[in-house]
Amino acid sequence: MARENARRSGALERGQEYLVPIEFVKCPTCKQKLAILEYVTTGTLVVCANLKCDTSLRIISRGPVRVEAVPEAETYKADYRPASYG
Ligand SMILES: [Zn+2]
Repeated sequence: MARENARRSGALERGQEYLVPIEFVKCPTCKQKLAILEYVTTGTLVVCANLKCDTSLRIISRGPVRVEAVPEAETYKADYRPASYG
């Protein structure tokens, strides 16, 4: 089941095998299934893969992964940067 979903989302196309385990979670806004890479930690913001939805989501727990929708205003805060160096 998980493999089937990964294939449909393109993760296994072009002969690429993904090396990082992924978990699936449903977007709370549009209910689309989203693949979350295992190394994405709690507190990280991700964007829904559904372009019509485009909701910002925060990882609120792992194993099993859970997300919550983030109000758009919050995504403009400085800590939205996915990685900061210095
Ligand atoms: Zn969504």
